[in-house]
Amino acid sequence: MREVDLRSDTVTHPTPEMRRAMAEAEVGDDVFGDDPTLNRLEAIAAKRMGKEAAVFVASGTMGNLVSVLSHAGRGDEIILGNKAHIFRSEAGGASVLGGVSFHTIPNDSRGMLDPDDVVAAFRPNDVHQPRTAVVALENTQNACGGAVLTPEDTKAIADIAHDRDTPLHIDGARIFNAAVALEAPVAELAKDADSITFCLSKGLSCPIGSIICGSEDFISEARRWRKIVGGSMRQVGIVAAAGIVAMDSMVDRLAEDHANARKLATGLKDIPGVTIDPESLPTNLVFFDLDHPDRAGLARRLNERGIKGGSPARRWRYVTHYGITSDDIDYALDVIDSTIREEAV
Ligand SMILES: *Cc1c(COP(=O)(O)O)cnc(C)c1O
Repeated sequence: MREVDLRSDTVTHPTPEMRRAMAEAEVGDDVFGDDPTLNRLEAIAAKRMGKEAAVFVASGTMGNLVSVLSHAGRGDEIILGNKAHIFRSEAGGASVLGGVSFHTIPNDSRGMLDPDDVVAAFRPNDVHQPRTAVVALENTQNACGGAVLTPEDTKAIADIAHDRDTPLHIDGARIFNAAVALEAPVAELAKDADSITFCLSKGLSCPIGSIICGSEDFISEARRWRKIVGGSMRQVGIVAAAGIVAMDSMVDRLAEDHANARKLATGLKDIPGVTIDPESLPTNLVFFDLDHPDRAGLARRLNERGIKGGSPARRWRYVTHYGITSDDIDYALDVIDSTIREEAV
């Protein structure tokens, strides 16, 4: 049966070129700094992001955790959006393991924080209060529809943080999607950040891995925290080889995923029960509201027909990625439309 897996861009498989590079990768023990393939990937990533150094970690969650722990200590606070992945979807790691508390302020519909809210969230130097140690943005902002922050958006928040001697972290799990959507070099988007993490394992299609970029000093500290959370690597060139291929050949093609997402969003608009604003979905994440008497059942029937995704919730998210073609979008729209209309009879 034909399958169109719209659950996430994390379902992407490594490309044939990645598999070849992985099979042939030169490797060494990364704890000794000996893995030449990983050293190359870290250098490529740092340069691409316009930072001095980079370190490979197992996941985006680990990248954010290690970054926050490197910036903030026990009793410190991180200012971030109430829809931030770090706040909502990382099991509270920074507070569980680092004693760092979360100070959330509202994300607006385009993923941005109100600069006035950020200013107001900073703590005065007062024995009663936690210390503000880091501010975080997310680009693209997942829960806000894969929203894109511009370099100017980032600078507005970075300036507030830097005026108060506080670093800015970017959760850039999908920063390359943002760069492609803006047709801007990714370094422009990272310029005002003191640290940034991005995922190799999502739209870039690698099997595993994320990278943290920042200054030499920051990355040394991050290596220490990576060790503490058990994230040291050995012959990781096997996976780094895929990352090098991704940096070379998987970034520009994200534009296809965005075009397919736009096509999917536009098609969904005409399906009964769907409320969607394609204009508010600039990258590869397609969020919509679904009015339907039995969403769990509908999701099950769609999955049985090969259209993977959906849930009992009113808000659904479909994600386009490498391996999903424009033709697959036509097919998925047909199946979704006919399944919903059959049930309406
Ligand atoms: C996926 C994601 C992460 C975490 O990545 P994992 O590799 O799944 O741990 C972090 N932030 C955002 C915005 C994400 O979408």
